[in-house]
Amino acid sequence: MTRKKNRIKFMRNSALILLLLIGIFTLSYKSYNYFYGSKVEANKAISTNKTPEAKDDKNQSTKKDDKDSKAKDQDKNKDNSKDDNKHNVSNDGKKYTYDAQKVKDILDGKGEKDGKKIAFLTFDDGPSTTVTPKILNTLKNYDVKATFCLMGHNVDADERSKELVREIFESGHAIGNHTYTHSMKKLYPGNKLDVNRYMDEVEQDNNAIRNILGKDFNTRVIRMPGGYMSRQYYHDPNLEEFNARLKEKDMYSIDWNAYDFDAEGKRKNAAQLLEHVKESVGSQEKVVILMHDTYGKEETAKALPQIIEYLKGQGYEFRTIS
Ligand SMILES: [Zn+2]
Repeated sequence: MTRKKNRIKFMRNSALILLLLIGIFTLSYKSYNYFYGSKVEANKAISTNKTPEAKDDKNQSTKKDDKDSKAKDQDKNKDNSKDDNKHNVSNDGKKYTYDAQKVKDILDGKGEKDGKKIAFLTFDDGPSTTVTPKILNTLKNYDVKATFCLMGHNVDADERSKELVREIFESGHAIGNHTYTHSMKKLYPGNKLDVNRYMDEVEQDNNAIRNILGKDFNTRVIRMPGGYMSRQYYHDPNLEEFNARLKEKDMYSIDWNAYDFDAEGKRKNAAQLLEHVKESVGSQEKVVILMHDTYGKEETAKALPQIIEYLKGQGYEFRTIS
């Protein structure tokens, strides 16, 4: 009798422990997804959020005195990056540029409307040896210039990738910095910006590009993995420090106000990507369009001719961000 009771007790306890383990696993999986999985979706929902940044600007100016003590070291950096010889476009490419700071103002809703429709095509996560050549070919056919936000890890991947970086630059396109690893876990551990790590990766990415284009390469265009808006959305406590660091270096975090939606949710075909562009561009006067030229984005390459034709038809001119 006791033996039977004990066995029942043992089985009941085992069942309880199993249930507990399932519970813990489900919870941790959910919170993992919350931090690392839902970012891009969140971006979409918060694309009009401008308040945190305006607040940051104010905080920065009240902290000016603190900063003055550090000013000497910072000035050195600033002068370096503002050097006219340093650039993210070729000489020929300078004809198509638009100031990064102005683009940032436009995205923050602080830009002045001048009635001129301008589209900034931006391609993230490249180069890739499969998709980037197709994108470059289409851009050449339409004589349109774009901004490529390169990821160091892909730049260094192989010789063909390095050739593509040179081709991007020599074709008159602009280059932005999309960090070296693009790893959310490394850049935003615990869902908080690791500012030193981030800035190190900016430098590492720039150096990978300098190894190909020469020491005069420099870019003021920072495209954050997941977007600056995701950091705002999560109320990242280190954003203020990050903003100060970008300011020192005369760099601008450039998000987007339109996209082809080629990185979120279900895989889409070219026709669907085009629809997302039409929808998100809407009637905006200046549009920064987020797309991707990394591995697996063949449909983006396929959609690009129609996207360009649509934008041209709507009266947009194309500029790069510099
Ligand atoms: Zn990315």
